[in-house]
Amino acid sequence: MLTLDQVCAGYGRMRILHEIDLHLGEGEIVALVGANGAGKTTTLRSICGQLRVSSGSITFDGKPVSGRRPDQLVREGLVHVPEDRALFGTLTVEENLRMGAWTRTAEQAEASLREVHELFPILAERGSQLAQTFSGGQQQMLAIARALMAGPRLLMLDEPSTGLSPKLTWTMLDAVRRIRDTGVSVLLVEQNAKQALAIADRAYVLESGSTVLEGTGAELADDERVRKAYLGL
Ligand code: ATP
Repeated sequence: MLTLDQVCAGYGRMRILHEIDLHLGEGEIVALVGANGAGKTTTLRSICGQLRVSSGSITFDGKPVSGRRPDQLVREGLVHVPEDRALFGTLTVEENLRMGAWTRTAEQAEASLREVHELFPILAERGSQLAQTFSGGQQQMLAIARALMAGPRLLMLDEPSTGLSPKLTWTMLDAVRRIRDTGVSVLLVEQNAKQALAIADRAYVLESGSTVLEGTGAELADDERVRKAYLGL
């Protein structure tokens, strides 16, 4: 579904990504883990069309991503939840959700609204509350739910555990698993390697702009180098 082949990218003359190789199949949760500044966010920005790659290729459904605008990619099913969540704080929860459905018909939006209400009942109970009054965990759920309103086939999540307690992170990751079970593939970027590897089907370790290790979530969680560098063991 998604393939990155020797991707290099950066900001101005500063090259951040040196060699990213990654693939994600239909129905998979793939985690991209690595330290602060390794280039995880930059990788997501390259995939969703916000950042032009300087060499290498990114294909989604066999078609190159390069040259297509982020809004075109959203219509094709590639939807990104940025780390800062980018909610509309002074709009209500339901208004935020409906904004996410800007590419869909009214019928599709209603069907997606029912689905996200089922996944996160609190969004139905508190639909008229302003988004800015939500706690960090609730805002993260709202950001993910708003992305689901676009009807993604691939959902890209940038550090969804930011600002959440370990317990809330597990709740959120459990929701990610349920989203995958509905047929949506997930690319999960996380600094929190332990929890990301626990739910990932497969994962990659990113160091200084290059993918250096690949394996199943369980294999990487057992890998000596990963345990020392990222799991504090
Ligand atoms: P974090 O967990 O801190 O978000 P990350 O692995 O996602 O880390 P990136 O945000 O991709 O890392 O940043 C990689 C490098 O690119 C860092 O050195 C960062 O300072 C630099 N960088 C990020 N955004 C920009 C930008 N807009 N302009 C210039 N440099 C940037």
